[in-house]
Amino acid sequence: MIGFFPTLYPDELWYSAIARFYIHSGIAYWSDALALLFPNHTSYPKVGDLMPNETMHQIVKQLPYDVLNLRMLALGHSLFSFRMRFIPLKQKKRYLEQFCAGENIQPALLSLTKKLQEHPLRYCPLCVQEDRDRFGEAFWHTEHQIWLMPLCAKHLCRLQSADQKNSMPLSRQLVQIPLRTSNVSSETHVWERELTFLLHQWYQMPFEQEANTQTFNLSRAIENAGLLLSGNVNRRSWDTDALYDRLTKQFGSTTVKEVFGERITAAHARRLRKMEIATPEEYALLSILLHMKPEALFEDEPIPLSIFEKMKTLSTSGRILTKAAIAEELQIHPEQVGAYAKRFSIQPFWVQSGCSKPKAERKHYTVTIHLSNEEKALVDEYLADQNIRAYSHMLRYCMQKELLHWQNEKGR
Ligand SMILES: [Zn+2]
Repeated sequence: MIGFFPTLYPDELWYSAIARFYIHSGIAYWSDALALLFPNHTSYPKVGDLMPNETMHQIVKQLPYDVLNLRMLALGHSLFSFRMRFIPLKQKKRYLEQFCAGENIQPALLSLTKKLQEHPLRYCPLCVQEDRDRFGEAFWHTEHQIWLMPLCAKHLCRLQSADQKNSMPLSRQLVQIPLRTSNVSSETHVWERELTFLLHQWYQMPFEQEANTQTFNLSRAIENAGLLLSGNVNRRSWDTDALYDRLTKQFGSTTVKEVFGERITAAHARRLRKMEIATPEEYALLSILLHMKPEALFEDEPIPLSIFEKMKTLSTSGRILTKAAIAEELQIHPEQVGAYAKRFSIQPFWVQSGCSKPKAERKHYTVTIHLSNEEKALVDEYLADQNIRAYSHMLRYCMQKELLHWQNEKGR
């Protein structure tokens, strides 16, 4: 039984509470403090983990009933809720229940986060100051340990790394917030503020919040950004090389490499599209690159597809448009116009040559009309103005329009 254990501060990291226990206990060595807290441990207890583990079980067991509870420790003092953000609700609830029942969920969590490296602990100099004023001491905030988050969400200043030895894991060393913190750095990029805001929103969301796998909003944003492989109207495969390139340009190769690896494969992109990837960092960088709101991957509202909106507007504009002109406006290949219209259930609205009629309806009547020079010049001007390339297209359009009008008038 432990004589005392510090009350945890709001959002305090589990490691931070262990470190404060050591400082308040007056014990000379970090290893002796750990030996007192974890008497049955043969190896170093993993108190530096950012995810809930057996060290929480062992401390809770030694304290009077209900001083600390496991659910609160997992959800309020580790990165569990954040790291489970893209795990289906049923699965993450099961992990939480297993943990609260005293089971070791480390192997399951490791398989989800295996590629994550350990980063030095971080703090915000202004939060440190506020905590010292309010509580009389500083502590490590859990949120600041989301390694991709560049700034403090509250003060928007750059987070500072602790003076931590890289040669050994955090559990084996006492890392403290310096008494004198370095200067506050508030020079930041727009994307850093956006990324911080997005990660903060995801961190704050209720544990139960689940990603929406039905809207395919990530894929819609990819399409809006022109990052689909060309010629792929129906399959909608991502241009993963161009995507990786753009990510690298915005976030730098070190970050992108750590989050995605050396490249994004087609198979990986398919899993991202179906929201089957577990790491929030991947979705975070993509969301910022693609200008998505923090809620976009969670809400029921599909992101409007810009090409659909533009095509719909064109189709109801009453303008005479050829396939080539539509393609130019939508920045697609003329051959894709029909396929897109079909995908969006938009009736063909471009001028069609008689060849598109079924063969049985097609009889070859050729009409010749004689124009004066003035009339020819006027027609040419009209063609250029309406971006129509063939006389026959224009004549067919004018004829159809007049015939439709005449039919309507007569109520035929
Ligand atoms: Zn702060």
